[in-house]
Amino acid sequence: MGKPRTIDEFKSANAWWRTKILTEIIQSGDGVTDLLRALRDRAARPFFIIDEILKPQERFLPIFEMEEKFIFDASRSEPRTGDVDGLVALIKAKDTLPDAIVGVGGGSSMDLAKSVGICLANPKTAAEYQGYGLDMKRGLDIWVLPTLSGTGAEVTPIAVLRGPEKKLGINNNFTAPTVAVIDPGLSSGARKFNRFFTMMDCFFHHYEITRSKTSEESALLDARDGLDLAKEVLSGDLSEFSVESAVKSVMASVLGGSSTIGGRVGVSHAISYGLSNSSPHLPHSVAVTISMLACRDIYADGGWEDTVRFLEINGFPRPRARDYGIDDSHIERMTTTALGMEKLWHSHFGPDWNSRVDRAFVADIYKRIVEA
Ligand SMILES: [Zn+2]
Repeated sequence: MGKPRTIDEFKSANAWWRTKILTEIIQSGDGVTDLLRALRDRAARPFFIIDEILKPQERFLPIFEMEEKFIFDASRSEPRTGDVDGLVALIKAKDTLPDAIVGVGGGSSMDLAKSVGICLANPKTAAEYQGYGLDMKRGLDIWVLPTLSGTGAEVTPIAVLRGPEKKLGINNNFTAPTVAVIDPGLSSGARKFNRFFTMMDCFFHHYEITRSKTSEESALLDARDGLDLAKEVLSGDLSEFSVESAVKSVMASVLGGSSTIGGRVGVSHAISYGLSNSSPHLPHSVAVTISMLACRDIYADGGWEDTVRFLEINGFPRPRARDYGIDDSHIERMTTTALGMEKLWHSHFGPDWNSRVDRAFVADIYKRIVEA
């Protein structure tokens, strides 16, 4: 794979993923302009969902000036099923319905747009669609303009939602974005903390898939390329925005999405879901970092060591669960949540995973986490 270093090289780069994705990628050096132009050419009536945090950046002004929009505060937590239901009701009450939902922002804004796009065509509440293999109709076209790289949300058929009972995605092919406009420059306004930890999650996805025993070959190939790119990015100091590192980040992110199709993450992710359930304000990327730091023995072939190294290079202390309100009173419940992620344990340990993984094994990892 040749590696583009500049925006112009990125714009003319051939497809760098092997897995068949459902999303059309538009490679751009001026994302807002290209998005609005493509929408004008193809969709008559877009409705925008944009992250409030982008307001001070002048380049997003044309979107904030749109009449048909919803400004979303993504800093709170993942989008909630109630946010989706509220937006669906608001849009349905309009005289003219939009024909495309456009998400502008990080993973949360994209997930909200993806959920609203599909739920508009389906009668039940969003919480009733959290899960896999549910019968759903195709909704509106979903467009995304990511402003942060690493989640892969720009190409995955998954929209993660926090519901009244559980944090779980709507998993359906009609949840995949129809079009993603990818402009590496758009992350230049993001905080170093967000750029770093979102890329860390991207690294964990690729790393865990390359160690998975149940992932498909095309996913493994994409994950290997993505792992190289994520490691190159995280081995540098991310204090200052750099085009070369931003180009690598968007490419690693798309591979993070494509390798999820047919690929499966492992132990750090299983553990992170228990943490997230006990602390709604703990960002997913930080939860996985905390989990990886407690898995030194399981990920002894580089995962743990690289995590420690990337934190050091970028001057971040090792994040601790206690700083997010998690203590030993949560261990029982977290253990139950993590043990429920059977496919992820299977992914790492293989078909006889439950000969190794039981309550004591998992509770022991959480003990290390709350004591760290
Ligand atoms: Zn993740």
